[in-house]
Amino acid sequence: MSTPAFLPHVERMAGYVPGEQPKDAGTIIKLNTNENPYPPSPSVGKAIAQALGDGRLRLYPDPAATNVREAVARRHGQGVTPEMVLVGNGSDDCLTIVTRAFVGPGDVLSYPTPSYILYRTLAEIQGARAVEVPFRADWTIDPAAFAADRPRLALLANPNSPSGTMLPPSAVGEIARRLDCPLVVDEAYADFAGEDCIGLVSELPNVIVTRTLSKGLSLAGLRVGYLIARPEVIAGLNKVKDSYNCDTLSLLGAEAALDDEAYTRSIRDRVIATRSRMIAAVRALGYEVPESRGNFIWCAGGPPAESVYEALKERRILVRLMRYPGRPPGLRITVGTDEQADRLLSALGEIVAGR
Ligand code: PMP
Repeated sequence: MSTPAFLPHVERMAGYVPGEQPKDAGTIIKLNTNENPYPPSPSVGKAIAQALGDGRLRLYPDPAATNVREAVARRHGQGVTPEMVLVGNGSDDCLTIVTRAFVGPGDVLSYPTPSYILYRTLAEIQGARAVEVPFRADWTIDPAAFAADRPRLALLANPNSPSGTMLPPSAVGEIARRLDCPLVVDEAYADFAGEDCIGLVSELPNVIVTRTLSKGLSLAGLRVGYLIARPEVIAGLNKVKDSYNCDTLSLLGAEAALDDEAYTRSIRDRVIATRSRMIAAVRALGYEVPESRGNFIWCAGGPPAESVYEALKERRILVRLMRYPGRPPGLRITVGTDEQADRLLSALGEIVAGR
């Protein structure tokens, strides 16, 4: 069926295609969408089970997600208060809310490239002009180039995907000072990075930080993310979000996970140790792998990504083949358990040796 003529705007959109979620995920080694290989905190299941038994699902959820906002403030400190937090249905929802709030038709939305592919779609939905600012060869950004087109909104994934690289908070602050629009620092992977830009929110009024429970807290299936900004920004964004954007079970699970920082740290340390091992081994096979601060590694410049992707898939190992205009394709590989990493590395070794 063709798109009706009264939707020309949608017809022009490329749309966003998320990473593959295979039906037989239990029998393959799934390293393609940066999920955490470890289970979430056991307290999440307990909180959800209790709510299922006590009849709470009859009622609407708390539209203000009060308990989760308080848990976020407890978790981060750094001057964060519940009035500085908005909770979303995944951080993608937070990014959508911000774009809806700040960008209209014809406005410029700037973001670096190569980065998170959803950013272009967010611009397209608003009928905005996407301005893609190339990273420098060392994955840093020229703040002047980022501000050059006078954007109405700027997005920056930090750590970045697919590179895994990270700009220090001082460099992000420099970018924010150059802009006369909000800068969203998308910290989906910051739980693996050891530092973040949350402190900048108190320093600079235009900085907005988004976080997710999908990666570091192992809750991609629960769909919870949050945004940290000045209270007056949050008040504005609250007008734009759906009233009940997060359901009761997700809010309870999120609160439990956010409060179990000891568990989060323990799985983070395991992912980081496996990440170091994977980087060294994949570099030894001839790939250029930037130092990653996320739960994935970016493999470019080595044996051809397409054929290696296919050969891995034949061995039931799924990674992400990523294509960006003007660059050869690369492989983005999620950090799995040690056993998954061993299977991946031995398969990669065989594939590269057999070429
Ligand atoms: N930002 C970046 C850079 C991501 O890679 C992802 C995961 N696809 C997200 C945000 C969104 O994650 P979620 O909606 O699961 O919170």
